[in-house]
Amino acid sequence: MICVNAVKAMDAADPLAYKRGEFQLPAGKIYLDGNSLGALPLSVIDRLQATVLEQWGDDLISSWNRHGWIDLPQRVGEKIAPLIGAATGQVICCDSISVNLFKLLATALHMRPGRSVILSVEGNFPTDLYMAQGLSTLLKEQTCQLQQVSESALLDSIDESVAVLLLSHVNFRSGAILAMQAITAAAHAAGALVIWDLAHSAGALAVELDARNIDFAVGCGYKYLNGGPGAPAFIYAARRHHSAIKQPLSGWMGHRNPFAFEPQYRPGEGVQQFMCGTPPILSLAALDAALDVLADTSIEQRRQKSLALGELFVDLVMQCELADALQLQSPTQAEQRGSQLAWSHPQAYGLCQAWIEHGVTADFREPDILRVGFSPLYTSFRDIYEAVERLRAVLASGTHLDPRWQQREKVT
Ligand SMILES: *Cc1c(COP(=O)(O)O)cnc(C)c1O
Repeated sequence: MICVNAVKAMDAADPLAYKRGEFQLPAGKIYLDGNSLGALPLSVIDRLQATVLEQWGDDLISSWNRHGWIDLPQRVGEKIAPLIGAATGQVICCDSISVNLFKLLATALHMRPGRSVILSVEGNFPTDLYMAQGLSTLLKEQTCQLQQVSESALLDSIDESVAVLLLSHVNFRSGAILAMQAITAAAHAAGALVIWDLAHSAGALAVELDARNIDFAVGCGYKYLNGGPGAPAFIYAARRHHSAIKQPLSGWMGHRNPFAFEPQYRPGEGVQQFMCGTPPILSLAALDAALDVLADTSIEQRRQKSLALGELFVDLVMQCELADALQLQSPTQAEQRGSQLAWSHPQAYGLCQAWIEHGVTADFREPDILRVGFSPLYTSFRDIYEAVERLRAVLASGTHLDPRWQQREKVT
């Protein structure tokens, strides 16, 4: 039996425990949803204050030069690069994952003439599939079609018709990790490219993009990078592909010289040509400051702690009556999952809502998943203990069966 004293000892021995003080967290509440929206770093408050009041307020348009606003997408991209194992000049911070996937899918199809298939797996994040479907409608089936196969059939489905694989490194629902290196190698052997979605990896797991010979990747600014709601996403494009980039959202910020105001589009160099319109400076400034919070921690430390938090959660569930109520839908081997756990339960939505009322925030994912995320920078082992105790209280009292939970909110 794991007792509360053992959990306190884990916190006392945690080398990342001090990081919690760098975040604003609601008193008395436990936040297990940092995989969906990262918590607010205190330094972001000061940075936004300065950006709004001093830069926008006082320096107005001169801030584009004076405060380097114009280069912020590149600078933030360079700050993200070491987190994903990328050398300089290959990452830029812009737009959303969805929009960035559109640019990359179009580029990949262009790089593989005669091949029309975008290959993905069932259960991939819907926006990835939707963007591929939209591009297919635009380009017509003969030049672009989405094929979805089961994970177990993936490798056997890569043939000469496949232009590009579109895959999430960590599954958003189950947390299962795909074998990035082996799949990329198999795709390359068949002449196909791969786009990796790192939404649930960047900041939480080691991702060695350069070392694994990855082609393209996208990732999220508002999950483990704590950039705030709607923070811009990022694009990685391996340097060897830069001369082949051809993306259709050819806005002026991707132009070689936006302020020449030429009538004809000429792409900028390297990843700059993935820019489209004017960058969202407030959001970029927030993300820029948030990234500094990660700087004095290593990915090994973060990964080790998030694995330990997840394992504690599993162990605490398994030693009590929750073991009969909840079914683990994530891989049982900790190393095979990201920084989250998925539990199925017939009343998962009610369970999640009642848990939130008991001060523990997690989220619900269709059809019956209670999803629990572990952010190693601000989640304590005591949080996990307390969260499981409160979940036991919810189930024992039956508050998850409240008819109020029949109606779902817009965001679950
Ligand atoms: C969160 C998430 C996204 C978000 O996409 P946006 O277009 O930035 O909203 C995309 N893919 C995956 C796998 C995600 O988890």
